[in-house]
Amino acid sequence: MSYWLHKSLPPICWTAISNPLPRFIPFHFRFRSYCKNRNNQGEIMEHVVFDGAEVMVGDPQLLQSKITSIRLEGPSKLQVITDFDATLTKYWIDGQRGHSSHGLLQQGNPEYDLKRQKLYDYYHPLEIDPSIPLDEKAKLMEEWWEKTHALLIEGGLTYGAIKSSVAKSRIAFREGVTELFELLERSNVPVLIFSAGLADIIEEVLRQKLHRTFKNVKIVSNRMVFDQNGDLVSFKGKTIHVLNKNEHAIDMAGPVHDQLGDANGLTADVSSVKLRTNVLLLGDHIGDLGMSDGLNYNTRISVGFLNDNIESSSDSYRSAFDVVYMNDTSMNSTSSLFAVRAANFAS
Ligand SMILES: [Mg+2]
Repeated sequence: MSYWLHKSLPPICWTAISNPLPRFIPFHFRFRSYCKNRNNQGEIMEHVVFDGAEVMVGDPQLLQSKITSIRLEGPSKLQVITDFDATLTKYWIDGQRGHSSHGLLQQGNPEYDLKRQKLYDYYHPLEIDPSIPLDEKAKLMEEWWEKTHALLIEGGLTYGAIKSSVAKSRIAFREGVTELFELLERSNVPVLIFSAGLADIIEEVLRQKLHRTFKNVKIVSNRMVFDQNGDLVSFKGKTIHVLNKNEHAIDMAGPVHDQLGDANGLTADVSSVKLRTNVLLLGDHIGDLGMSDGLNYNTRISVGFLNDNIESSSDSYRSAFDVVYMNDTSMNSTSSLFAVRAANFAS
């Protein structure tokens, strides 16, 4: 029996190591915390620690049954849906906030960088204002994105500027992302990266930071069209913004793998991913859970990365996600969770 005082939980918690989980559950330890909340009522919270990462699981039985069910149905039924910024990438880099794929872009034209910043200053407060009805907010977001895209064209963005912005940026993938993509590639499991950012930037980040591409990884995001001089001339498909980045977006986004040239991609028709009715969803915001909207899934395991404000957000994240990883942890825990390694779907 061992006791552990949680820093991120209500004031008084004692933790005891409980019986090991069944072998196919890849967690090393499970913890049961006996806590007294602020009203002095007892609460029990389940925690799991794997590979040194601190993890919260709101309902371990439910998680276990989901893992079992996805294992039984096998990799042909599975797809991975993931957010990009602060989910696949690190939140902190050398003690500073990492760049987002949008935030890293320097257009090479300070006047236009400033114009885009002004749009941010105006629209971002509207984005996070809970009093604005969702349909109204969606229109505002579309307006923001379209104005930003117009400024990128007007300000003369070049593909070269994207390359050098990525090279100079403070952005890095979590440890274990390559390994997770490789495991999923070997099992022919598609990974859809949904982003309201820019597909061309995300692809450049993949190229420069992972030094390789994956035939199973598709980016559903806003895609640019460059002319033969490398100047941005237009955008393809409908605008993908924060409120519509979900499986509906597959049908309206521009082509998903123009730049990666994956002629040997595992699905010629990306809409066939909709036949894969089991989902591993990864995100760092509760709103990311909406990425599976538009998919009639059977089983979904949602994994949340709680990167900041851990104390104030731990309750809401624990209720919203099946598993919550804290402290900017590596992706190794997710690979293990997914039993791609531990259960290999075939054992
Ligand atoms: Mg994110």
